[in-house]
Amino acid sequence: MQRYSVITEKNPREIVLLRGQGCRYRRCSFCDYHDDASCDEKANLELNTEALSHVTGRFGCLEVVNSGSFCELDGSTMKAIMAVCTTKKISTIHFECHWLYRRHIPALRKAFAEIGVDVKMKIGVESFDAAYREDVMLKGIRETDPAKIAEGFNECCLLFGLPGQTVKSMRNDIETGLKHFERICVNIMVENEAPLQPSDQVRQAFVNEIYPDYKDNPRVDILLHNTDFGVGD
Ligand code: SF4
Repeated sequence: MQRYSVITEKNPREIVLLRGQGCRYRRCSFCDYHDDASCDEKANLELNTEALSHVTGRFGCLEVVNSGSFCELDGSTMKAIMAVCTTKKISTIHFECHWLYRRHIPALRKAFAEIGVDVKMKIGVESFDAAYREDVMLKGIRETDPAKIAEGFNECCLLFGLPGQTVKSMRNDIETGLKHFERICVNIMVENEAPLQPSDQVRQAFVNEIYPDYKDNPRVDILLHNTDFGVGD
C-alpha cells in the first residue's frame, strides 16, 4: 500500500494515506475502502509515523487522508501530524470529514491555528442531487441546501460514473460544487466489492463530454482512477 505521494499539478502538495480506527459510518453503498483500519493505536502510530517521515514540506502544504474522517485518527497520530507540521514548516493542511462530524471541525481548526497551520476541510458530498445521494448512495447527509452543506467546509468530493447519472447531472454537480466550495475533487467510480457498481456508459460520457471542460481548471482535481493521487493500492 503506497502511503506517501507528491501531487505536483494543481494546488501542489504532499499527501499521506494514514490509518485510523476506521470509518464509523460505513453505510455508503459505493464504498468498500473502510477496511484500511485498526483498533491498535500503537500499530497505527508506527505505520503513520513511517508515512509521515517522507514529508519534506517542499510546498508547505500537506493533505492527510485516512479512509474515513480526521476524527477517526488516534490522538497519538494527530500529535505526530502536528509535530511534522511544525518541523517541516507546513502552513496548510487538508483533512477529510464526513458530514456527521462537522461539529468537531472548529476545535481542529483552533488546535492547528495555534501552531500556525491553516486547515482546509474536505467533505464527501458525492452529489448535490439529494434524492440520488441519499436513496442510492446512502451518503448520510440529510441537509439538501448546498450552501448549508458547505458551511464549515472548504472543499468537496464528487463521485461520478454511476448508473442513473447523466451529463446534465454531473455538470450541475460540478458547477454547484464550484459555487459553494473553494475547490472540488471529482472521483470516477471504479469497480470494487461494494453494492453500487459503476456504469461504463456514464464513465465514458464523463470522459468524452465533461472532462475536457474541467481538466485544466485549477480548482478541480479529477481522479479518473482512485490511485491517481499516488496513494492507495
Ligand atoms: S465513503 Fe467515507 S463515510 Fe462513506 S462508508 Fe466509505 S469511508 Fe465511510
